[in-house]
Amino acid sequence: MSGRRSSGSLEGNTSLALSENMEYDNLFRDSEALSQYISKGINYVTEVAVDLEEVDEKEKVQRMDDSLRNMIDIENKLSAQKEVLERIKIRTNNGRKFDDVVEVYDQECEKAVKDYSQVSEEEKYLKNENYEDFRQKIWEVKHPNEPMPSLNQNDDDDIVVGHQKDSLTCPITTLPLENPVTSDLCKHSFSKEAILSLMRQNGNVVPCPIPGCEKQIMEHNLKENKRLERKVALENKKKKKSNKMDDIEYTNIDD
Ligand SMILES: [Zn+2]
Repeated sequence: MSGRRSSGSLEGNTSLALSENMEYDNLFRDSEALSQYISKGINYVTEVAVDLEEVDEKEKVQRMDDSLRNMIDIENKLSAQKEVLERIKIRTNNGRKFDDVVEVYDQECEKAVKDYSQVSEEEKYLKNENYEDFRQKIWEVKHPNEPMPSLNQNDDDDIVVGHQKDSLTCPITTLPLENPVTSDLCKHSFSKEAILSLMRQNGNVVPCPIPGCEKQIMEHNLKENKRLERKVALENKKKKKSNKMDDIEYTNIDD
């Protein structure tokens, strides 16, 4: 009888743990759905803003800019909540018991929101890919062939190729970067195809090709780097221009 009771309570614990896990999974799923909703909203706001810029509705474009910043705030808040959840889930899985898990969650979320409110405008928005993309698309309406001035004062902080900052050369191909991707483990950047083919040869994980780095990179660690892509495109444009100039000079000499 006592044996049965203890096995019963064991089962009880297991099903409690399971139901907590399901609860987490539901929360994660909800927050995933919200994130997708927000990201659709961001695309929509960007499209509308481009249309408005085309008809010179400056004030309305500014309102779209404000909406986008709000959405980015929500997105960041969501991902902070998700991180809090993940941390609590890990602790629960490690056997930690909380008297009031909701209170712990609330407190940690509150702290995350407070931390976020102290982040600078530049960190919040100007370094946000979606925001940069938004500004880029609006810029292109009126300046189709002109590079957009950098939104950030320290634009190059997160572009590191090898030990050489700012290099636009892929360390694998030693050619200009093509479809640049950046490892989120070490911020080293490569041409997408080059690193992926190394990875395929290696069984889907590859030590970072930068000497001395040795981070184990997998496909999900590689993030498209639009900012770097624009830099490469700009550099190529400049090169083409200077080649043309050289041609003209040669022509002149020939004459
Ligand atoms: Zn690396």
